[in-house]
Amino acid sequence: SGTRLGRTGNRILALANQKGGVGKTTTSINLATALAAIGRHVLLVDLDPQGNASTGVGIAKQARRLTSYDLMIGRATVTEALQPTAVPGLAIIPATVDLSGVEVELVDDASRAYKLKEALRRLDEPFDHILIDCPPSLGLLTINALAAAEAVLVPLQCEFFALEGLSQLLRTVEQVRKHYNPTLSIDGVVLTMYDRRNNLSEQVETDVRAFMGRQVYETVIPRNVRVSEAPSHGKPVLIYDLKCPGSVAYLALAREVLRRDGGGSLARPEPTAA
Ligand code: ADP
Ligand code: MG
Repeated sequence: SGTRLGRTGNRILALANQKGGVGKTTTSINLATALAAIGRHVLLVDLDPQGNASTGVGIAKQARRLTSYDLMIGRATVTEALQPTAVPGLAIIPATVDLSGVEVELVDDASRAYKLKEALRRLDEPFDHILIDCPPSLGLLTINALAAAEAVLVPLQCEFFALEGLSQLLRTVEQVRKHYNPTLSIDGVVLTMYDRRNNLSEQVETDVRAFMGRQVYETVIPRNVRVSEAPSHGKPVLIYDLKCPGSVAYLALAREVLRRDGGGSLARPEPTAA
């Protein structure tokens, strides 16, 4: 059955990997856009102080008045902070560099790990999907995303140390289940920047699939120059060049996400005993 524990009507996915440059932001933007293109109502939460997801959907710095920072410190609600984008069906809560201060600002707040969860719980506009773009670290912002999420989606670049990085992330997910969110699932691993001319990509794919099994998405995102050009135009690649291999792959990923979501096919973790 498709029953999910703690289901709120919003499918909340955190895109996380402690490594930078693996495709978290690119996948956040383009999976969100692809889901919206299929007709879903999607909210993208930019939770990285670098604000690259905000830039990538065309929200200029001066247009970021209320941000994920205001959300985290309780100064704005989700409804107040979200902004429409040029993509129909896709809204974003942008980020600015202010966000890098929350770790220190919330240091004495006993519920600091649950700021995002609390904010999203009070959401009065229903979204089919909420995607959270995490920063490249396992600090308080990523913990907030993992505490709020039903599942974590891990973009993984096909490179030599991919499995070591993945093991580290899995240990963090275990810790988060134990302390903050017992029903967090891994749903799932997405191979990014795949290069068919490079034997290493193929070798990493084989190893990751052997290690993670069905938790690895069938869809693989190819390395594609159109994908890397799109953000400088403030556009998701699906808007920039709908027919390029990157756009085709992100549409396929969106369909696979919907298929898995509807079928509830991935194993959920056993809730950890307290
Ligand atoms: P992260 O958010 O994990 O730091 P990004 O999504 O910002 O990673 O991606 C890192 C860099 O790789 C960016 O310059 C981005 O444009 C590029 N990139 C990401 N995915 C692809 C792809 N499929 N093909 C080509 N370049 C990509
Ligand atoms: Mg990023």
